[in-house]
Amino acid sequence: MNIRKNISLKKYNTFRIDSKAKYFLLLNNLKQIAENLEIIKNEKILILGGGSNTLLLNDWDGIVLIPDLKGKSIINETEEYVDIQVGSGEIWDEFVRWCVANNYAGIENLVMIPGTIGGAVSQNISAYGQNITDTLMNIDTVNLETNERNTYLPSECGYEYRRSNFKNIWRNRILITSATFRLKKHTKEFELSYHERAGRYGSILEELQSFAKEPYEIKDVMEAIIKQRSKRLPNVDECGTCGSFFENPIVPKQKYLELSKKITDLQAYPVENFTKQKNSSKDEEYVKIPAGRLLDELGWKGRWEGNVGVYEKHALCVVTNMKASGVEVKKFTDKMKKDVKKNFRVELIPEVNIL
Ligand SMILES: Cc1cc2nc3c(=O)[nH]c(=O)nc-3n(C[C@H](O)[C@H](O)[C@H](O)COP(=O)(O)OP(=O)(O)OC[C@H]3O[C@@H](n4cnc5c(N)ncnc54)[C@H](O)[C@@H]3O)c2cc1C
Repeated sequence: MNIRKNISLKKYNTFRIDSKAKYFLLLNNLKQIAENLEIIKNEKILILGGGSNTLLLNDWDGIVLIPDLKGKSIINETEEYVDIQVGSGEIWDEFVRWCVANNYAGIENLVMIPGTIGGAVSQNISAYGQNITDTLMNIDTVNLETNERNTYLPSECGYEYRRSNFKNIWRNRILITSATFRLKKHTKEFELSYHERAGRYGSILEELQSFAKEPYEIKDVMEAIIKQRSKRLPNVDECGTCGSFFENPIVPKQKYLELSKKITDLQAYPVENFTKQKNSSKDEEYVKIPAGRLLDELGWKGRWEGNVGVYEKHALCVVTNMKASGVEVKKFTDKMKKDVKKNFRVELIPEVNIL
């Protein structure tokens, strides 16, 4: 497919913002990059996967590239594990379900996260105690300035909580073409450990116990997550949303203790890799606190202004009636941020890429 002009991006982002792209290219193969390199090099690039973590404020005065690179293959296999290479344009949720159907364990808790493989790798997704980097082996890329291909190890990609070089310093320059995951084949080994790792999400255990018996199977764990997510999170087919709008803030333990006096049952989660590049402190001196709990305390759950609101079951999920503009969403979320800052002296950082 060739470059098209003046294309609406409404169906390419889950806030359903009706921004237009000056140029638009659905990338089915890498030859298209070489063929269109001149125009790609000279235009402002936006790489968009499923648009489920992207808020468009304006029309895109440049080129939007949608990596539609498909396919998955087992490239290595032993008695214990399987290495699966999957195209960046594959749908993450479909990949998870396919792995579970084949009894490949390691990403089942990440079911129902919208978007593509490329978006998941870039955003460093996590949920219910599982993180994409637990199983990610390497990432194949192409540099959009030079058309050079490269394969990176996760340790080279600047992974931190919801951060990576793809989202930051390499953004819109290094395009992920595929990623390889190492998943375990012997699901029995996993049943208990998933159970334990998910232990702090007690409700998952309750959910599991409500319909399955030990030893749990990988499909049971996935089913429990699906049931939980369906109860708690908005559906992208019914409203505009990017799920959690803000990251969960990382605060010093002292700050957490101070906030706990004001907010009953405020939970704290361990932090990983936060201080790795900061040298000054240790991760143990910080905790991650749920931003949704802070917003809930301030009465944001279910609050609407015009076309934008907060999901009635989750104070961190901003939703729209699919008619909102990006600017309306931004104004609304700025208010949320300001309110938290004023009342708790905590800075909320958007998880969503605001463009
Ligand atoms: C209802 C709902 C629930 C959610 N739940 C979770 C959750 O539990 N955990 C979680 O972590 N996230 C969650 N999310 C957020 C979101 O789904 C993930 O971040 C997802 O991985 C984004 O993928 P995407 O393809 O839609 O990315 P996009 O929004 O299209 O892009 C995100 C970023 O990745 C870059 N990018 C995308 N593809 C490529 C590529 N091929 N090469 C280089 N860069 C690329 C983009 O340029 C952008 O910077 C949720 C979202 C929704 C709507």
